[in-house]
Amino acid sequence: MNRYIYFAGAAMLMLVLLAGLLAQSGDKAVKYNKLTAEEERVIVDKGTERPFTGMYYEHDETGTYTCKRCDAPLYRSQDKFDAGCGWPSFDDEIPGAVKRLTDADGQRTEILCANCGAHLGHVFTGEGFTAKNTRHCVNSISMNFVPAPQTSGQSAKAWFAGGCFWGVEHYFEKEPGVLQVISGYMGGTIERPTYEQVCTGRTGHAETVEVTYDPDKTSFETLARLFFEIHDPTHLNHQGPDRGPQYRSAVFYTTDTEKAIVEKLIRLLKEKGYDVVTEVTPASAFWPAETYHQDYYARTGKEPYCHFYIRRF
Ligand SMILES: [Zn+2]
Repeated sequence: MNRYIYFAGAAMLMLVLLAGLLAQSGDKAVKYNKLTAEEERVIVDKGTERPFTGMYYEHDETGTYTCKRCDAPLYRSQDKFDAGCGWPSFDDEIPGAVKRLTDADGQRTEILCANCGAHLGHVFTGEGFTAKNTRHCVNSISMNFVPAPQTSGQSAKAWFAGGCFWGVEHYFEKEPGVLQVISGYMGGTIERPTYEQVCTGRTGHAETVEVTYDPDKTSFETLARLFFEIHDPTHLNHQGPDRGPQYRSAVFYTTDTEKAIVEKLIRLLKEKGYDVVTEVTPASAFWPAETYHQDYYARTGKEPYCHFYIRRF
């Protein structure tokens, strides 16, 4: 009798495992979106759409371009530029989203969706279109577009470095009028730096956040004031336990007005006795950090160890 129960139990277990395996392979089969013949010609057979015909060539909405086949996010609208070539062009990808392969022609570099291998187009470097000197030439048909939750007006961007970007991002994300905050690197000498390279302190980059905001709801000055109150601008090359030039305090400005605002705030703080060491530097190429650094505190549910709000103005 016991033996029969064991046998029945083992058989049941096998059935459950088999059902699980079948379900899994079933999932795989339905994982990708169904493609039309024309989409398949480009995405699967590595074809090229005719220039100036794609729906995203002259398209400048704010949002994210995703893979037509698997929906993985590939490119951000802020990295799109007009190269005049007839295909959507981006000077950077979402970190880790795009795979590079030497093309069948042995010359060009093919780009593919890192998640599903869908053919996207080719990537070219050294053409001098933007500071990043890179052009992802992408077939419109390989992508879908997901608009950002938008407001009536235009958005604007500001870049701040104030120690570990996890903490700075945490506070800016809670600020009214802020649409998006991305952790990354600015102010250094090499392209596409990794976290490990920046951590050596030798690339010149500072851990920097890119703040996209709605100028109808907040202002550069409001954000700059907040910046001076969520990190200690009197610390040279360190914040909390983090030490090194990559943790320096810096504002990267894009206009003379922004520069004047920051200099005014620094003057106000100095009058109050703060020995501010914040650098005021023109903005340069911003390199988004690895995905695991984005929204760190929101994802982990932890509280910042390195940043606190202190009223200073
Ligand atoms: Zn894909």
